Amino acid sequence: MSGSDAKGRLRLELFPRAETAVRSGHPWVYADSIKSQNREGETGELAVMYDKKDRFLAIGLYEADSPIRVRILHYGKPAGIHRNWWLEKAQACLARREGNILKDGTDGARLISGESEGFPGLVADIYAGTLVVKIYAASWLARWEEIEDVFREVFRPQYLILRLSRNITQFAAGMGFTEGFHGEAGEETVVFSENGIRFEAAVLKGQKTGFFLDQRDNRSRVEQLAAGRDVLNVFSFTGGFSLYAARGGARSVTDLDISRHALDSAARNYSLNPSLAGVKRHAVQADAFRWLEESGENYDLIITDPPSLAKRESEREGAARAYARLNLAALRRLRAGGLLIAASCSAHVSAEEFYGAVEEALRENGLPFRELWRYGHAPDHPAAFREAEYLKAVCVELKETAI
Ligand code: SAH
Repeated sequence: MSGSDAKGRLRLELFPRAETAVRSGHPWVYADSIKSQNREGETGELAVMYDKKDRFLAIGLYEADSPIRVRILHYGKPAGIHRNWWLEKAQACLARREGNILKDGTDGARLISGESEGFPGLVADIYAGTLVVKIYAASWLARWEEIEDVFREVFRPQYLILRLSRNITQFAAGMGFTEGFHGEAGEETVVFSENGIRFEAAVLKGQKTGFFLDQRDNRSRVEQLAAGRDVLNVFSFTGGFSLYAARGGARSVTDLDISRHALDSAARNYSLNPSLAGVKRHAVQADAFRWLEESGENYDLIITDPPSLAKRESEREGAARAYARLNLAALRRLRAGGLLIAASCSAHVSAEEFYGAVEEALRENGLPFRELWRYGHAPDHPAAFREAEYLKAVCVELKETAI
């Protein structure tokens, strides 16, 4: 019997506003939303919440040291959380993807998308046979053995990697957890396929779990729009948008990134796809803001998909200005009839603020335009609550030349 069992169930009562939020499906309970609890809680144990009439409200994972004190697993009718609970959730995640996202030509996808799919603070991505589980909430470490076992049963990976978000590495180390392969060790870099295009994923050390799977459908949209165009991929990273543009028949594709490492990785991705390696291709290593403002080059399709420009709430306003400046500079490099695809992955910048910033750039640019579409995440990244909707992308077409 663990210490927490000996002490009895951890029971919480919430303030009314938090209770309403939980009832409407919000997955987080902040520390200051807890009105009372029967005892101190331990990270990883289950906390049961009751309403003021002492009826079951919800059950979740307790995090003793996090401002998000409870991550909800279930609300409504009482439910027991046991191995089968996780097994069924994981099976449902797989079933939602098999045959539509994971199909011929695609063996890389997000399998579990955190809160939105019943695993709050945890994501799992598959790259060919390598499953990468990334944990953002320390509570998972307390039940890692059970979860690992369930994931092996449901997803049947050849290799399994545990990755930890920076804020929990210290806690994890205290429990004897480090990042890396669990079980048999595989390669640091895995080659997988997405819609028939092969890419490297830096599964052990790369950002997130090794690749930006969330932009998959926007990459396909770029492919549809690229024919006959000179394409500039700003913040090109591993060349995701670039290879799709090449397959879509772009006249030329230019990768622009500040990092040599990123440009090299894009070059390797081209060599993994010999049928695309023939495209007229340029690589520019430079600061994107300066280069766009100073270079005299013009293009017919420009993608701006920068790293998060607001890592914290206090950077939000500065980020909105940066999006406006970046996209104005990009618009000024577009020819008549040119397309701008502007994206933002900053969770702290709302869709409204981001689209507002792009609109500001369009106004400042002064030329007539029409908006073709707006999209968020690919469907393997469902976002069931506002905070999970970090990805935004908009496509606009310029009607006249800016130069
Ligand atoms: N668009 C990419 C993801 C971008 S990741 C994709 O679809 O996969 C962010 C990239 O921006 C990284 O490769 C990083 O090296 C690059 N970067 C960061 N700051 C930059 C800057 N000031 N100028 C140009 N590139 C930059």
